[in-house]
Amino acid sequence: MALQIDPIERGSLVDEVLQRLEALIVGLTPGTRLPTEQELCTQLGVSRTSVRAAVQRLAERGVVSVEVGRGTFVRQPDTQRLSEQLGLLVRLDRESYWQVTEARRIVEVQVAGLAAARRKASHLEAMRAAVETMDGAMGDPARFAAADEAFHLAVASAADNEVLAMFSQQLQAMIRTARNEIFTVIEISPKAQEFHHEIHDAIRRKAPGEAMAGAARHLDEMETYIRRMLAQTGRPEPLAGKDREDADEGAHASR
Ligand SMILES: [Zn+2]
Repeated sequence: MALQIDPIERGSLVDEVLQRLEALIVGLTPGTRLPTEQELCTQLGVSRTSVRAAVQRLAERGVVSVEVGRGTFVRQPDTQRLSEQLGLLVRLDRESYWQVTEARRIVEVQVAGLAAARRKASHLEAMRAAVETMDGAMGDPARFAAADEAFHLAVASAADNEVLAMFSQQLQAMIRTARNEIFTVIEISPKAQEFHHEIHDAIRRKAPGEAMAGAARHLDEMETYIRRMLAQTGRPEPLAGKDREDADEGAHASR
C-alpha cells in the first residue's frame, strides 16, 4: 500500500509569509524599516527563500521599497497605483461596466454638487483645460477618453474631500479599459461633451443643483447611448472583464 504524503507547496508558504507581512505593515507608518531578512526568517520560522519571495512581491506592488544596504521600508500608499490595482481587480473579478456606471451615479452626482459649492479657481482651470481638450478631440477617442477622465477627476478634486476623490479615482481606473475598448467600436456621443460643458458651467456659477442634474444626465445619456450603439454593432455589452456570462447578466439590468 502506497503511503500518501501531501507535497509541501512552496507557493502557499510564500502566501502565508505575505499575509503575515501585510498584517504587520498595516500597523506601521510609511518610512518604517521592516525587520531584516534574517530576523523575519527566525520570527516566522521559514526559509530565506520564502521571506525573499514575499518581500519581492510586496515591493512589486509598491507596498515596500527595498534599498540595498539599508533595508526594506514601508512605502507611502500611492492612490494612483491603488486605483490601477483595483481596476485590474475588477477585470479579474469580471465585474461589468454597468455596475461601475451605477456606482459612478451614486458618487459623481453628489460630488458634482459639492464641487459647485467648494470649487476654487485652480479646479475650474483644470476642468476648463479638460473640456477644451475634449472639444478638439471628438475624432480622437484615446485623447478624448484621457481628457474625459481628467475632467471627472478635476470635478472630484473640487469637491475637496479626499475620500470621495479616492473613490472617483478608483471608479475611473475601473472603467478605463472598458471605455478604451468601447471607443474603438463606437463613436463618442456628441451629447457627452454638451454635458461636460453644462457641468463645468454649473460648477463655475456655484450652482450645486444644476451641477448634480448635469452629472446625472451625463451618466444616463452615456449609458443609453452606449447600449444603443453596441446593440447596433452587435456587441451586447462592454465589459471591464471578458466574461460572457457577466455580459448576459448585465443585460437583465438594462433600463
Ligand atoms: Zn464624461
